[in-house]
Amino acid sequence: MRVDYHVHTKLCGHARGEMRQYVEAAIEMGIVKLGFADHTPLPPEKKDPGLAMDEAQVEGYVEAVLALRDEYKGQIEIALGFEADYIPGYEEEIERIISPYPVDYVYGSVHFLGDWAYDSPYEREQYSRWDPDQLYSLYFDTLCKAAKTGLFDIMAHPDLIKKFNYWPNGPLEPYWQQTAAVFKESKVAIELNSSGWHREVGKAYPELGFLEACCKAGVPVTFGSDAHAPEEVGRDFKLAMETLKEAGYRQIAAFHKRSYTLVPIGV
Ligand SMILES: [Zn+2]
Ligand SMILES: [Zn+2]
Repeated sequence: MRVDYHVHTKLCGHARGEMRQYVEAAIEMGIVKLGFADHTPLPPEKKDPGLAMDEAQVEGYVEAVLALRDEYKGQIEIALGFEADYIPGYEEEIERIISPYPVDYVYGSVHFLGDWAYDSPYEREQYSRWDPDQLYSLYFDTLCKAAKTGLFDIMAHPDLIKKFNYWPNGPLEPYWQQTAAVFKESKVAIELNSSGWHREVGKAYPELGFLEACCKAGVPVTFGSDAHAPEEVGRDFKLAMETLKEAGYRQIAAFHKRSYTLVPIGV
């Protein structure tokens, strides 16, 4: 079944196009379930209109998603999601912001290591200050802490730290094994995020070996394009499903009201 749960809107300040155009593009691609997952507001010290919606915009975002869900009923199923940053100390605020709404799932993202927005091209020079093994260790440790909060249903782009092609000297397998075990224990799913194929690293998030470790551990997987423009909706879905099969998956997770059912992988 074709799904895409990771679609942004221009409310986050770095996506373009109308929400309706994303829906139309999804219908054209044969997507059965489309989920909007725009960035939740950031804490005051990280607030940036180019990164996430403002708290005052949350209600309008939800209303727009629900209105499109009604309007396109029978043509496509539209889910209400969010992509929330894991920022230690900000957990209760995230909960407070999203709890009034009939949310289908929340993506948990690690975009910050301390104050460093490590995936921002503007802060890229900071990689040179790090020992790559220590950096990977901190990244996966933070990702595991995020999964353990219980705030999130799906861990977004679970090895985003490779975005600019920085790699540790040591093996990656131990990180994958430990993280997959924590994901299983924390009852979170992961996504195969196809945007990495279009970044400098040129690979999907996560690596095939990480997917295999998650599959072996019994962690469910779903698909997200991380579309920031209508034409990116469902991008690389076919290749993504082939990759998932290669990793051992036969089903993907479909989300409704913060729980999931498994549906067959199909292209
Ligand atoms: Zn993200
Ligand atoms: Zn995203």
